[in-house]
Amino acid sequence: MNTPVERERVQVRNTRPLRPGRYVLYWMQASQRAGWNPALEHARSLADELDLPLLAAFALAPQYPEATLRPYAFMVAGLRATERDLRDRGIALVVRIGDPPAVALDLARDAAAVVVDRGYLRPGRAWRAAVAAGAPCPVIEVEGDAVVPVELAYDRAAWSAAVLRRRIVPLLDRFLRPLAEGAPRRPSLGLDIPGLDLDDDRLLDGLDLDPSVPPVDLPAGPTAARARLASFLEESLSRYADRRSDPSANATSGLSPYLHFGQISPVEVAWRVRAAGGAGAEAFVEELVVRRELALNFTLYNAHYDRFDGLPAWARETLAAHAADPRPATYDPAALDGAQTDDPVWNAAQQELRCTGTIHGYLRMYWGKQILLWTPDPERAFRLALHLNNRYGLDGRDPSSYAGVGWCFGLHDRPFPERPVWGKVRPMTRRGLAAKFDLRPYLARIASLARHKE
Ligand SMILES: Cc1cc2nc3c(=O)[nH]c(=O)nc-3n(C[C@H](O)[C@H](O)[C@H](O)COP(=O)(O)OP(=O)(O)OC[C@H]3O[C@@H](n4cnc5c(N)ncnc54)[C@H](O)[C@@H]3O)c2cc1C
Repeated sequence: MNTPVERERVQVRNTRPLRPGRYVLYWMQASQRAGWNPALEHARSLADELDLPLLAAFALAPQYPEATLRPYAFMVAGLRATERDLRDRGIALVVRIGDPPAVALDLARDAAAVVVDRGYLRPGRAWRAAVAAGAPCPVIEVEGDAVVPVELAYDRAAWSAAVLRRRIVPLLDRFLRPLAEGAPRRPSLGLDIPGLDLDDDRLLDGLDLDPSVPPVDLPAGPTAARARLASFLEESLSRYADRRSDPSANATSGLSPYLHFGQISPVEVAWRVRAAGGAGAEAFVEELVVRRELALNFTLYNAHYDRFDGLPAWARETLAAHAADPRPATYDPAALDGAQTDDPVWNAAQQELRCTGTIHGYLRMYWGKQILLWTPDPERAFRLALHLNNRYGLDGRDPSSYAGVGWCFGLHDRPFPERPVWGKVRPMTRRGLAAKFDLRPYLARIASLARHKE
């Protein structure tokens, strides 16, 4: 078959033959965008070859583990924009509320083939496996939210970023390229298949979502993501290599929510960053490709990615050996949740998470590590850090959430000289932070943000 997509991105998930159908179905779940989307382009090529319309569908799960109203509102606003982008290409997007495999299987009844994008976490993998098992037609999975296909990069869990970097960097030139895009030969706008009206303001009311974490004031969708990228390229990329760790410098991209919902492609981002060039480009590609794809590698290959048991043995052992060490302070979950510790920097990071749905990247490490320091039992600390990250994070419940929290507890890191509480896990202290950066502008910005929200 003639496809613009690299063959390593494509995996056929069952053995059913092609069959007559009304359309080729692109079951869009992870890559919620119309541009730079390998699954969409693969489905379009197949539809053209079979001379069928291409129909896109998205299943809005009535609930998702740990997700609140906040990420759903952002996701639905993004889908609204994507629906318009697809319509401009003659492709109808049908959105239905329901268990994703049930929605996809219902629409697969009239499909010649189903093409789906890739999921790395347990729920997304189970959804795809159920559809591959139950569909009466071929189910083809196309990996479009990693720059280098994860199994091609490495066939097992990578011990560290260095291991993956050695594999990924030589493959970058091959996978960092624009994708040929076009309108399908046969539009699907006239198929008249029932779905939700995304412009209905009450759409989210029918879902079982925790309203106590409200939506954030961040424009959603592919156009907003590209605007964010453009301003990052213009204003911050040149400072990224030197200043990205400084919470006051405003030198990071803020793209993680868009990447999480697949509203922008990591290939597009890395390609544009490399085209812009300069000292920041290499440092940025290290974070966006090596670090982010280390997280994909971790969640794909480690069955315990969301549990303390998923940490390396040396880290679990050393933390257990120091579990009874006296802590410099302890806080209960409510004090941490409410940003009521005696550490103004930590409180600001927690306020930032509560108000904006993310934390500055460097402070996020400090934030996670202090939870370990202040909680008597390291397993409980791990669960609490993940819970707060996923409850308030707009970019939470992502492979990078599990790898990021895990890193605070020793994942993908090496042992350090042994100390109380930390054991051999890399410590991070407030004194160290204060010695590196002038945090006053950051603290002032968050204080004003928090006042605004009250
Ligand atoms: C305790 C902890 C929790 C975290 N939770 C999340 C989370 O829920 N969701 C999430 O997307 N990231 C998480 N991270 C990783 C990282 O902190 C964020 O991706 C980054 O801060 C997002 O901000 P940005 O888009 O401005 O990043 P930039 O510095 O502009 O980087 C660009 C992109 O590279 C990727 N990236 C950057 N740093 C990392 C990293 N360390 N690991 C993996 N990918 C990275 C992200 O996709 C990011 O959007 C966590 C890290 C820690 C230490």
